Amino acid sequence: MKTDSYLKSIFDEVNRKHFRNKLPPIRIRFKPDIGAADARFVYERKRSWINIGLWFTSEHRLINAVKHEIVHYWQWLKYRTYPKMDMMLNHTQEFKTIYERINV
Ligand SMILES: [Zn+2]
Repeated sequence: MKTDSYLKSIFDEVNRKHFRNKLPPIRIRFKPDIGAADARFVYERKRSWINIGLWFTSEHRLINAVKHEIVHYWQWLKYRTYPKMDMMLNHTQEFKTIYERINV
């Protein structure tokens, strides 16, 4: 199941179930060389994407990682016009609240 279209299907399902399909499509892909992290949300001023590592030991962990990065994406959509967005894109209380909400 390590295909980019599988990742997209996870994104689409989370978007439908928890965000009423309000999240615009984002590039999401498997990438072998993303360093120490299992997954990474990457952004520039006007665009963003999600890189997922290849070393997940279970489907469950993979799905949780995608959900985690989707919350960062949600934050980016909300805060990207703020001058101090880097500070907002963190594991804030708001991040934790949203993450718990979509993990039911
Ligand atoms: Zn994170």
